[in-house]
Amino acid sequence: MFENLQDKLNKAIKTLKGQGRITEINVAATIKEVRRALTDADVNYKVAKDITDRIRDKAIDRKVLISVEPGQLFVKIVQEELTELMGGEAQGINVKGDPAVILIAGLQGSGKTTFSGKLASYLKRQGRTVLLVAADIYRPAAIDQLKVLGEQVGVEVYSEPENKNAVQIAQNAITQARKTGKKIVIVDTAGRLAVDEVMMKEIEAVKRAITPTETLFVVDSMTGQDAVNTAKTFNERLDFDGVVLTKLDGDARGGAALSIKTVVNKPIKFISTGEKMEALDVFYPDRMASRILGMGDVISLVERAQQAFDEEESKRINAKMRKNQFDFDDFLSQLQQIKKMGNVKDLLGMIPGMGKMIKDLDIDNDSFKPIEAIISSMTPKERQRPDIIDGSRKKRIAAGSGTNIQQVNNLLKQFDEMRKMMKKMNTMQASGKLNKMMR
Ligand code: GDP
Repeated sequence: MFENLQDKLNKAIKTLKGQGRITEINVAATIKEVRRALTDADVNYKVAKDITDRIRDKAIDRKVLISVEPGQLFVKIVQEELTELMGGEAQGINVKGDPAVILIAGLQGSGKTTFSGKLASYLKRQGRTVLLVAADIYRPAAIDQLKVLGEQVGVEVYSEPENKNAVQIAQNAITQARKTGKKIVIVDTAGRLAVDEVMMKEIEAVKRAITPTETLFVVDSMTGQDAVNTAKTFNERLDFDGVVLTKLDGDARGGAALSIKTVVNKPIKFISTGEKMEALDVFYPDRMASRILGMGDVISLVERAQQAFDEEESKRINAKMRKNQFDFDDFLSQLQQIKKMGNVKDLLGMIPGMGKMIKDLDIDNDSFKPIEAIISSMTPKERQRPDIIDGSRKKRIAAGSGTNIQQVNNLLKQFDEMRKMMKKMNTMQASGKLNKMMR
């Protein structure tokens, strides 16, 4: 996410960080480079100029030049300004009402349907009852897509494939939600490839008819300045409550995230970072600013883990680790839980300093595939007692999993080392050494 911008900002600030004494000239040059980094990332020129002017004023105000750690102080100022630029405080969505109605708008392909599914799943995890509504009357495939997502996340989907009146469908869905006691209705609407009058009129009519508690505008962050322009047009017609930025897992340059708040004066409320239903985060401007500056985002990482990890399963596996009984079935289960947290590269990027290191590495969730295939090719007994896996078993496993003996050997070796490590920690813990070491 925002790797290029991160890289350029860090380069710009590095000179200041490395110097004990800095001069006005250094600061001016750094500020100019920060501005260039922002415009290169597709941030609107005026927005970039305003923020860098403010950074300069603050730097003078707080006497960066004569401070003990000029570089650190400067980074802090940039972090504060980026946070402010992206909206300051995080803004939640309004789910009050009986039912609360959330209207989803945006261009076709922006990720509306995917987001509707994710939002339903997110709200369901909070213990709310949700009804998803397929109000796209032009593309029958869109109804099917929402049905598939609904099934995946365990949320009912309302649709009327024969009805060509989006307003009616939305109204009927709300009546249905009332009857069945659903507290939140999410209406996924039709989008067009470009802004178009018929579409705008339709969504305006839907909005008027159902008076949503929350109207969210979904936009593809990869479209840069276009995203900002589309947001402006939609906002003029719909006066939406918040923005959802999608596809931030791609090589978005960041411009949209950084300019939208200033241009339309509406907060970004969610960001979507992948096709999986779990790849949704509430947008926190301060955490995003830290990520952009390569400072990581450990809080979001922990939150993702909490969402994805099944507590009972974690307890069970922990108990097995403590008894030195951790086996390949447990390993597979852990792997699946990690995968549920979303894109691995994205997760690693949340660790401070890691983003830069893994920038050019090709890591994706498919990297786990050979490991999963190898474990799946083992018999239950082999998974519990890998020590019985001899040469001929290895051959069978390699053939069954479409890998080779070396890959099987590697996995067995790594697994063995992992178990040894767990054993060591258990003994240390028993003797109280671990606590001592931790301290
Ligand atoms: P809609 O036409 O606005 O409903 O868009 P869709 O929800 O059908 O999404 C269009 C395409 O973008 C689909 O292939 C989605 O899987 C993909 N997509 C949606 N959100 C994300 C995201 O956050 N990251 C990535 N990489 N792909 C996404």
